[in-house]
Amino acid sequence: MKLLELSSPFNAKPNCSPEDAEVFFTKGKERQAKAICADCPIRFDCLGEALAYERDPEHIPTGVWAGLEPYERRAIAIRGARAA
Ligand code: SF4
Repeated sequence: MKLLELSSPFNAKPNCSPEDAEVFFTKGKERQAKAICADCPIRFDCLGEALAYERDPEHIPTGVWAGLEPYERRAIAIRGARAA
C-alpha cells in the first residue's frame, strides 16, 4: 500500500490537478476523489501536508486529501498524538 511508503519517489507527480478540485471538495464525490488518490505516487507526502495544515485550529478539515476524508485524517492525527 503506497500510503505506508516513507517518502515519495523523486520527481513524482500527483494524480490530481487543479481541475479536479470540484471532485475533491464536493459532498457525494468522495469515492471518485479516493479513486484518483488510490495510486498517487505522492500520497504519503500529501497526507503529511494535510495533517500539518489541519493541525492549525483555524484550518477546518474539508475535502479528500491523500485518499482520506476529514474524519479519517482526524483519526490518524489523534492516533499520532496519543503515540507521541
Ligand atoms: S494523494 Fe494528494 S496529491 Fe495525490 S491525488 Fe490525492 S489529493 Fe492529489
